[in-house]
Amino acid sequence: MADWLALADRVLEGGEITDKEAEAILDCPDEELLLLLQGAYKIRRAYYGNKVKLNMIINAKSGLCPENCGYCSQSSISTAPVKTYKMVDKETLIRGAEEAYRMQVGTYCIVASGRGPSEKEIDTVVAAVQEIKERFGLKVCACLGILTPEQANRLKEAGVDRYNHNINTSKEHHPNITTSHTYDDRVRTVETVKQAGISPCSGVIIGMKETKRDVINMARSLKVLDADSIPVNFLHAIDGTPLAGTNELNPRYCLKVLALFRYINPTKEIRISGGREVNLRSLQPLGLYAANSIFVGDYLTTEGQEKSEDFKMLEDMGFEIDFANKEHAVQL
Ligand code: SF4
Repeated sequence: MADWLALADRVLEGGEITDKEAEAILDCPDEELLLLLQGAYKIRRAYYGNKVKLNMIINAKSGLCPENCGYCSQSSISTAPVKTYKMVDKETLIRGAEEAYRMQVGTYCIVASGRGPSEKEIDTVVAAVQEIKERFGLKVCACLGILTPEQANRLKEAGVDRYNHNINTSKEHHPNITTSHTYDDRVRTVETVKQAGISPCSGVIIGMKETKRDVINMARSLKVLDADSIPVNFLHAIDGTPLAGTNELNPRYCLKVLALFRYINPTKEIRISGGREVNLRSLQPLGLYAANSIFVGDYLTTEGQEKSEDFKMLEDMGFEIDFANKEHAVQL
């Protein structure tokens, strides 16, 4: 039996895990899963205590995307019946922030479909973010696709704290998922936002027919990219997308993936993201021994569980919501 706690101690002392150990984590026998998670929790607790950060998404622009990402219901090749609308107005973005504030959400995520934003879309986001920061003091994450350095600078000036652009999968597997842009395009945008002084958020989608080697490469690539926040999505295959019917995951494997990301990226915010409910199912709470962040509310085009269920789960586990804005003078 592997000594998962000794491995956690090594990570806490600044050591790295080897590829062989990374493989062993993904192949961890189910009967050792609790010990593996105990090690992951030891690392997570050292940096985040028993706090859990909440994030909430507003789907600011839906569908109508010319790209061909195989997992995405909003792509040009998807036949899934998703809502399609152009960028919502500033007031709608602000109303979403108000709801996020009421829910004690630490980061409000403004997400828009598309290859990259138009100048008009940037204008709307900039105007909304300035007011959101002033009124609610919330952390704002934008996710608007491929950015130019000028656009990144404008978002930074407006007060955007974080920018999400997922690598999604490994460099090797990326051409099997999307051909309308490259893995390097994605990395470039992450580097662009870093250059602008915005905190980089970049994550993955697990369950897209990748190998375990790909999963390890993803976790290592994000370490090299130095992403501050790492959303780990588990594929919720949607009918009408090329990946429809793909169902490779089970809850125990999802937990092993989360543990791997924690052992490789010990200090980072690791967020259990899309597909949490359908893939982790009754084991969702255990995921929080490795991850320290979740989304509340709905995802982009799929529904999350009731927010009250998430709050109950955190309370039952004795975790505390990490909400730094409690004292923000806000007129609701
Ligand atoms: S993931 Fe983003 S870029 Fe890819 S198809 Fe969906 S909306 Fe477009």
